[in-house]
Amino acid sequence: MTAYRRTARALTLGAGGSAAAGLYAATASPWLALPGLYAAAFLAWCAARYSAAHHRQVAEADWEQRHVLGEAPAPLNPCCMLARHSDGAAHDRRKCTDEFHRITADLATEPRSST
Ligand SMILES: [Zn+2]
Repeated sequence: MTAYRRTARALTLGAGGSAAAGLYAATASPWLALPGLYAAAFLAWCAARYSAAHHRQVAEADWEQRHVLGEAPAPLNPCCMLARHSDGAAHDRRKCTDEFHRITADLATEPRSST
């Protein structure tokens, strides 16, 4: 279990609790349900994002393991998170799942060592 999954589960639990609190508050006044339901929707959205990050991390670990064992796994889509956030303009030399991008990635994207 990754930290992303733990966080996603906690957020899902929070979303359920917020929804329950919002619905309970609606028994007094329907307008009182809005804050609870808004918080529930936000927490559910966050849980979905963390769940997606968990799945991505598991897929990257599986890809890396197959790569190290000598297989030629197909690159993930997107190939790396740096490419996703730069619209494919930059690639992470170490974590990109596309072999060609690992070779041709700009050295400027390489993280700098603190030593
Ligand atoms: Zn990439």
